[in-house]
Amino acid sequence: MTTSDQASGPTSDQASGSTSEPLSPVSRTALSVARVRAHESARPEPLFVDPYAAAFVAAADLPAPAADRGSALAKSLVAHGILRTRFYDDRLLAAGAEQVVLLAAGLDTRAYRLDWPAGTRVFELDLAPVLAFKDQVLDGLGARPSSDRSTLPADLRDPDWPARLVEAGFDPARPSAWLAEGLLVYLTAEEAAGLLTAVADLAAPGSRLLLEKGGDPAAAPQDPSLAHITDLWRGGLGPDTHGWLDRHGWTSELTTLDRIAETYGRPLSRATTRGFIEAVRRP
Ligand code: SAM
Repeated sequence: MTTSDQASGPTSDQASGSTSEPLSPVSRTALSVARVRAHESARPEPLFVDPYAAAFVAAADLPAPAADRGSALAKSLVAHGILRTRFYDDRLLAAGAEQVVLLAAGLDTRAYRLDWPAGTRVFELDLAPVLAFKDQVLDGLGARPSSDRSTLPADLRDPDWPARLVEAGFDPARPSAWLAEGLLVYLTAEEAAGLLTAVADLAAPGSRLLLEKGGDPAAAPQDPSLAHITDLWRGGLGPDTHGWLDRHGWTSELTTLDRIAETYGRPLSRATTRGFIEAVRRP
């Protein structure tokens, strides 16, 4: 994986395929994540194997990498993307929920590649064009989900998605597992709080929520070649995301990235306060 892999992104037309609407800039960030996953999957002793990630990258016909390679920001985004993928894989399976909701699922293929207990329902929500692009690629490969998968095109800033999720078969009375991976940073604090409030209303006691601890975008290392990503950052709930959850009916645990990296045998060169949160809905 190179800096420029992270830096490059498809044009709208390239990512749209022949039948889908063009991807918006924020949806094109899902392709950057797919590129990271394709790279990791091809490494010796990978932390995970996503057998579909390379096909998304190929279908989007990404432009050649830019000249600037290996900036501190790019390396940090790549390490973060790899570690969070594996961490969330493990924690979602450990949650053992019959209902799993992937908020802003992007090109996440967990509904296909994880070994879910029989009968697990996986709901994928994201903006319509990215779900259409994803299904076009997966259908073209003849991919079969390992879960009972449903997709729900939705703008998660809109108030109507919870009702539509229930219409699609989600049962708020039963415990569920929720993942907001790589999402909140693209929302304002108000939008993120609105989204998590809606999640709390749907999450029965004992339900789990996985997400990143927000950082201070202004404190991130600079890399102009990644501006197509960093210019979209709105900060979400920032560094106090777990505190916010604790004040809003969840009991959260933060695991720092360096500890996770150590656990998976990929130690970071320095300590960090960044990390991932697992929260349990209180009764
Ligand atoms: N969670 C996926 C993963 O980790 O592979 C995708 C992460 S990608 C960095 C960010 C995703 O957030 C994109 O798929 C984008 O379409 C989605 N997204 C951003 N804002 C959204 C919104 N308001 N409603 C729905 N999806 C949104």
